[in-house]
Amino acid sequence: MKTYSKEAFVTLLEDKLTRKRRKHIEDASDKDLYYVISSIVKDELTPQWLKTKENYQKNETRQVYYLSMEFLIGRLLESNLLNCGLLDVCNAALKDLGRNPEDIFKHEHDAGLGNGGLGRLAACFLDSIASLNYAGHGSGIRYRYGLFEQRIIHGNQIELPDYWLKEEYPWETRKSDESVEVHFGGTVHMHPKSDGSLEFVYQDTDKVTAVPYDVPVVGYQNNVVNTLRLWSAELSPEESDILSEPSNQYYHHLDHTHSVEQISGFLYPDDSSYEGKELRLKQQFFLVSATIQGIIIKFKRNFDLPLTKMHEKIVIQINDTHPSLAVPELMRLLMDEEGLSWDEAWKVTTNTIAYTNHTTLSEALEKWSTSLVKQLLPRVYMIIDEINERFCQGLWFDHPEMRDKIPELAIISDEQVHMAHLAIIGSFSVNGVARIHTEILKKKEMKNFYHLFPKRFNNKTNGITHRRWLLQVNPCLSEAITDVIGPQWIKHPNKLISLLRYSNDAPFLDKIDQVKRKNKQTLAELIHKQTGVAIDEESIFDVQIKRLHEYKRQLLNIFHVIYLYNELKENPSMDITPRTFIFGAKAAPSYHLAKEVIKLIHHVASIVNFDKGINDKLKVIFLENYNVSLAEKIIPAADISEQISTASKEASGTGNMKMMMNGALTIGTLDGANIEIRDLVGDENIFIFGLKAQEVLNYYQHGGYIAKDIYNTDDRVRKILDQLHYGEFGAQEIEFKDIFYNILYHNDPYFVLKDFDPYIESHELVERAYRNKREWQKMSVTNIAYSGKFSSDRTIKEYASEIWKLR
Ligand SMILES: *Cc1c(COP(=O)(O)O)cnc(C)c1O
Repeated sequence: MKTYSKEAFVTLLEDKLTRKRRKHIEDASDKDLYYVISSIVKDELTPQWLKTKENYQKNETRQVYYLSMEFLIGRLLESNLLNCGLLDVCNAALKDLGRNPEDIFKHEHDAGLGNGGLGRLAACFLDSIASLNYAGHGSGIRYRYGLFEQRIIHGNQIELPDYWLKEEYPWETRKSDESVEVHFGGTVHMHPKSDGSLEFVYQDTDKVTAVPYDVPVVGYQNNVVNTLRLWSAELSPEESDILSEPSNQYYHHLDHTHSVEQISGFLYPDDSSYEGKELRLKQQFFLVSATIQGIIIKFKRNFDLPLTKMHEKIVIQINDTHPSLAVPELMRLLMDEEGLSWDEAWKVTTNTIAYTNHTTLSEALEKWSTSLVKQLLPRVYMIIDEINERFCQGLWFDHPEMRDKIPELAIISDEQVHMAHLAIIGSFSVNGVARIHTEILKKKEMKNFYHLFPKRFNNKTNGITHRRWLLQVNPCLSEAITDVIGPQWIKHPNKLISLLRYSNDAPFLDKIDQVKRKNKQTLAELIHKQTGVAIDEESIFDVQIKRLHEYKRQLLNIFHVIYLYNELKENPSMDITPRTFIFGAKAAPSYHLAKEVIKLIHHVASIVNFDKGINDKLKVIFLENYNVSLAEKIIPAADISEQISTASKEASGTGNMKMMMNGALTIGTLDGANIEIRDLVGDENIFIFGLKAQEVLNYYQHGGYIAKDIYNTDDRVRKILDQLHYGEFGAQEIEFKDIFYNILYHNDPYFVLKDFDPYIESHELVERAYRNKREWQKMSVTNIAYSGKFSSDRTIKEYASEIWKLR
């Protein structure tokens, strides 16, 4: 892309301002500047975008489509400037004009089209695919309402609608000429054709038009611009015409319009859990059908190959089972629309689709009732049924040793369609997202499928884009790194390992310390502005930011806070390093216990933060509306990264990687990618505690443990739980009896009490380590040095070479 001098950029800016907003720079608001700079970036990237498409066509490049119900992309202006190579000059120009870049960037509404880790992973992957020059595109839904905006009122979470499209979204381009139709409901009729085969005719279906909106995905300074295509549901043109005619059907039609548009109306706010809602199934099919129709149209246009060879040029990666209807829908399109035989279509399908599993939590495994699928997608159901029949028959004849396992492995059983089974059977690759997670899939959760298809299973440990999560969010740290090891790490994040040579270098360690201090100051200002609480910038910033879930154990964290508070009350002169506990978390609106934990954190904060008796040694901060932009502000300031899930429950985690990369030390269980972090940095550079996955799984197998025993024998635990139920943390109206009962009478399903003592002990080691500043800085640098492995560039290279077979 072009380069500009600062002066040239100022001229460009002024010119655009007068033409687009009819204003001089002195009168331009920050919002004017946001739109004008976005427009400059779009002008810059458009030729590259067209060029990239042309190249793929000309070279008949093999392409990957990443299908995901969620893309948590956050803001784009700053990262697009960065990737276009314009960020520095833009910032310099703005400074000259007396404007603050940050005030301008924040006028972009976060695109919150995802719940948490799964959606953010999809966003990081797109960044890496483009930056590594791979031909790959995202495909998702253009929800009119993203994940709800969280407000806290008296400690209670309130959900507000996130109407992120209220103002023009500059990054999208509507492509109505590439719209396709998606059909729901109706009936299927079979007609024999002259050649003896059957033709399937659909009658009385509801037609929905899927209109694509394309968002550019800019590679890092490599002139590649790929596409994130977001589909919007609209009434089909004939049907909308009826609306403009006089008719007594007017309200009926309005009603119909509304129900069609609902399909891309809002993102379901459940993270790692699933509800069998009809509209959600409609969304899934809408995404899958629109995407695959688009792929087939392009395939026929761009490649001089028959559809029986589609898998030579196309691979479809499905992000969890949410898009697993891709299996029967690709079969349907190939057979009913394109005339392929079952066997031909099956060969193409099972060589095109690859499936990523994200969880072993039972509440997250998708199962749709057969009656719903039948009624909403009659032809698709017939195909699922046929796939199931053939699979079960195959088991019976080819795997006699598995005959008694057929009901467990079937796609359809108990009147339900098991989407994970459909995804495994219909794909050529099944991957987990961290080493331990894949092992659990192979040895336990999916062991029978692993027995049948051992070659299909593989691991791809998650990653994060170091461009956004280090270069962009922590420019001072990035500069300090470049000063000592040069800039190669930006293109080759593994080179961060050279930092190890500086882990004893006093000037470098001082510099790292200075940067962290500055980042902590900045966050302290934000905290003060948002909460009114003044925090000690010298305190340990102890951070837990992630969706609120029982298995992630924010409860264990807040129990530790209560414990420290109780200790300080008993012994006010106790010598502890001041601590600031920072939380950010959204709870699913219907997740009662999760909301109780948010309330508890606020209640503890309201007592601890204002108790003069503890001399400001503890502060508890809950920052509302945790999203990508807030994460970007918190992560560079973290000293401690809390990754304390019940072992075996967190498939990978990516928040752990983001904080490690910014020099925070992890306190965590041996779960998900924490294990791989530990293996790299060594036990001396991480704080590991608690039950191991195998121990947890053994407990589950034998019915858990007796939580009451710990309550009865550990005074610290008893005191905390009693405080919740009867005491100062739960007086009168506010009482946390549901938490109390869940732990003591439902036997603490996530082992909070069981891990309490080792957690406290581990935190004592943290505190001791923090007192030795030099040692701490060394540990911090060691973590940064090894974090290169967790760049999503490494992950995407593995997908590209081992699954996608891209060049
Ligand atoms: C990275 C990220 C997550 C995932 O965090 P985990 O700690 O891995 O659960 C969730 N939400 C946002 C906004 C993120 O940026």
